[in-house]
Amino acid sequence: MTTYRATALDTPDDPLTGGVLRCEEDAGIRVVDGIIRSRGGFRDVLAEHPDDEVVDLRRGVLIPGLIDTHVHYPQVRVIGALGMPLLDWLERAALPEEARLADPAYAAEVAGEFVSGLVAAGTTTALVFGSHFGPAVDALFTEVTRLGLRVTSGLVVSDRVLRPKLLTTAARAYDEGRALAERWHGVGRTRYAVTPRFSLSSSDALLESCAALAKDVEGAWFTSHLNENLAEIARVAEQFEGSVDYLDTYDRHGLVGERSVFAHDVHVSDRELTLLASQRASVAHCPTSNSALGSGPFPLRRHVEHGVTVALGSDVGAGTGFSLLKEGLQAYFMQQLLGPEGLPLTSAHLLHLATRAGAEALGLGEEVGDLSVGRAFDAVWLRPVAGSTLETVLRHAQSPDDALAKIFALGTPADTAGVWVAGRQVLGG
Ligand SMILES: [Zn+2]
Repeated sequence: MTTYRATALDTPDDPLTGGVLRCEEDAGIRVVDGIIRSRGGFRDVLAEHPDDEVVDLRRGVLIPGLIDTHVHYPQVRVIGALGMPLLDWLERAALPEEARLADPAYAAEVAGEFVSGLVAAGTTTALVFGSHFGPAVDALFTEVTRLGLRVTSGLVVSDRVLRPKLLTTAARAYDEGRALAERWHGVGRTRYAVTPRFSLSSSDALLESCAALAKDVEGAWFTSHLNENLAEIARVAEQFEGSVDYLDTYDRHGLVGERSVFAHDVHVSDRELTLLASQRASVAHCPTSNSALGSGPFPLRRHVEHGVTVALGSDVGAGTGFSLLKEGLQAYFMQQLLGPEGLPLTSAHLLHLATRAGAEALGLGEEVGDLSVGRAFDAVWLRPVAGSTLETVLRHAQSPDDALAKIFALGTPADTAGVWVAGRQVLGG
């Protein structure tokens, strides 16, 4: 039995629909078997359970574990390849590196680097784009189950357009995916995600085999890319004659549903937004990637007005790092730059996008996303580096919302002092 003493910040209610930041300045959060069993003022909680071990996290703040809804495991080593639009960046930076994961020893090293990057940034739950190679996906799942992270991932499949080494067939995609799902789906906190890279590199036959796999693996997730870049969208339209739009290339195989998460969706039609909302599919917004590749500004207001769930993704390696604090700040910047079309975001919105919204997008809203009683204790202790500007400005914060804004403005993985997943400390301590 452990009681954590901290300034706790979270967003159980969506600030886009009237919720506010919840701040408890001297909270006691009591954790039994990894689950938050009670919380309240620290002295009240301790008075009821005087024999608990007390973990003092009062310097800094405690927030829910961060949730990254779109991140590529094989791309950790190519972060920072700037100056190219999507299709050039894939050809020159991402895909040559992804091909190297054919070597299982290389993949195991990358898996270690990737998982370290997630944890260091305070990410405890992620929907991860896996590798084109089965043994490399095994390496990822091996590494995440060692730490107990909540990771949903799978074999990335393509059967055209990409370099030959990365291609498969519809039948092989099904068989290899099925075998991986049998090994990993539901093991620890991992789940399987059926993952065609994007329609551009997928035939209808491949997407049909993805649909069959998603149906045959009970509770499997589905993820892919959607409407990222104008040149990409034009090529998809050429390749799928008769498709209404990009989303239709997935929808005609039944791949748009409540367990579907689509990354980017920068250039989206109202028809697509209506379909995403009615099917309860979610969108991963990846603001540093959209900025780095010049993909365009994300129409957050239109997604919200249509009722589409949006959460944050780092999109490493087109995104510029694992930090969801940085993604939150960049999301804020982009909405500011959109002027009247933008949706002005507060620090509470940013925290919600990085935590609670991600949990809902991934169907984990009962388990994680905030620090309420009944949730697993997935948490990040942010304690500013001594002498840092963040430490200075936090000392002068006017309110909890102001303190949180300063954390998004200045916080980095260097400020992550502790990370817990289901009550087990995986960083710090
Ligand atoms: Zn991506």
